[in-house]
Amino acid sequence: MKNQYVIKTFEDIKNQHPDQKEYLQAVYEVLSTLEPVVEANEKIEKYSILERIIEPERQIIFRVPWVDDKGKVRVNRGYRVQFNSAIGPYKGGLRFHPTVNLSIIKFLGFEQIFKNSLTGLPMGGGKGGSDFDPKGKSDDEIMRFCQSFMTELSKHIGPNTDVPAGDIGVGGREIGYLFGQYKRLQNEFTGVLTGKGLSFGGSLARTEATGYGLCYITEEMLKVMKNDSFKNKKVIISGSGNVALYAAEKVTQLGGTVIAMSDSSGYIYDEKGIDVQLMKELKEVKRQRISVYADIVKTASFHDDFRSIWTIPCQIALPCATQNELDEESAKTLIKNGVIAVAEGANMPSTPEAVEAFQKAKVLFAPAKAANAGGVAVSGLEMCQNSQRFSWTFQDVDEKLKDIMINIFHNAYDNAEKYGYKDNLVAGANIAGFLKVCDAMLSQGITY
Ligand code: NDP
Repeated sequence: MKNQYVIKTFEDIKNQHPDQKEYLQAVYEVLSTLEPVVEANEKIEKYSILERIIEPERQIIFRVPWVDDKGKVRVNRGYRVQFNSAIGPYKGGLRFHPTVNLSIIKFLGFEQIFKNSLTGLPMGGGKGGSDFDPKGKSDDEIMRFCQSFMTELSKHIGPNTDVPAGDIGVGGREIGYLFGQYKRLQNEFTGVLTGKGLSFGGSLARTEATGYGLCYITEEMLKVMKNDSFKNKKVIISGSGNVALYAAEKVTQLGGTVIAMSDSSGYIYDEKGIDVQLMKELKEVKRQRISVYADIVKTASFHDDFRSIWTIPCQIALPCATQNELDEESAKTLIKNGVIAVAEGANMPSTPEAVEAFQKAKVLFAPAKAANAGGVAVSGLEMCQNSQRFSWTFQDVDEKLKDIMINIFHNAYDNAEKYGYKDNLVAGANIAGFLKVCDAMLSQGITY
């Protein structure tokens, strides 16, 4: 970084939160690409837009007591970070995972501001969750936890204030329990959460949206920047949760072959291509570990180190599990093995060193805030349908999703070129997302 204002802003936040490493990583990645924008508009420094945009508007941390099946009282910690409401109500998922802490929720909430802006829909940025581990818990335990979590969260959210959704560990089941408790407490049936079941206000295509959207933007990137497509490509997808499963489904529909997928216990490899329907059955319905797939399919093998998935040669890599899962060494191996495109389904899955390696090697690279924006985009469409008390068809929503993803690609691609970062979609997405929020913040004055 060269701009003194940008450098000072980052140094100050680093000194304030030296322990929040994921949050600092996300802030650095954005600020380091905004220098030409800051230099083109003196109001950004005069009105302290950078200092304001990196500071959440509100952070809520709360106790979540619940009772397990043995009658023992357990306590977890809940979070909701309401980061920025300049362009709409706070919007962003809830993550239930033992690694959740304030740094992770802040990094996710910060990224969400720009991602939501890129969708073109009126949504601010927020994120929340808990260090609760849903793995191995019974349905009743999950329900009691969700009810306790919502008992506090309900005081801070609302359909025009803050509309949470799912993320790691929070799928349709959890959203159902959370919604039921909100309705009971507020005595109001309203679109306060997205990712709801279809029988109570959910949108068709929301389940598929992040994975499908990831493939739509990757297909556009391949077409525009390489005159190529998914057809006949070998594809590796890490993870086997919501994003990974529907990315695998769409890759297969677009003519690619998914040869490896993973979970935190390891990865499976099948040169002939993974049977996505079977994988969905095992993961979504039976909630099995991924090794079970290799027990059933004889051409598949199981390997117990999930990080080694990137050592398999492929042309397209879609990291869809979690943050910092793809490091520099993995990036260099992928490059050596001939990868032509990487698109991030998970949030910040590539370390900064990995991103640099891809960019140096001229591998096409679509960053998370553009590439996985399909999920929140369809959440925005779910909010529209709830307000209208109407439901659109799967095809309607899928077409709108595709248009949004193609627009995001071009917005990032064009802004990269305009600000001197040709072909750098990381910079382009940051700039495009930032410009709209910055304009709204400047227009609204200094809000106290
Ligand atoms: P799920 O909980 O459905 O699936 C997560 C997958 O990633 C599982 O296979 C899980 O394995 C694996 N995983 C999670 N944490 C780790 C870890 N620490 N190490 C190794 N593997 C891990 O989550 P989603 O698919 O919803 O989310 C995946 C990513 O996509 C996250 O980064 C999320 O923020 C991002 N995202 C999700 C959106 C959505 O609409 N769902 C929207 C935009 C982004 P295991 O089961 O063994 O833990």
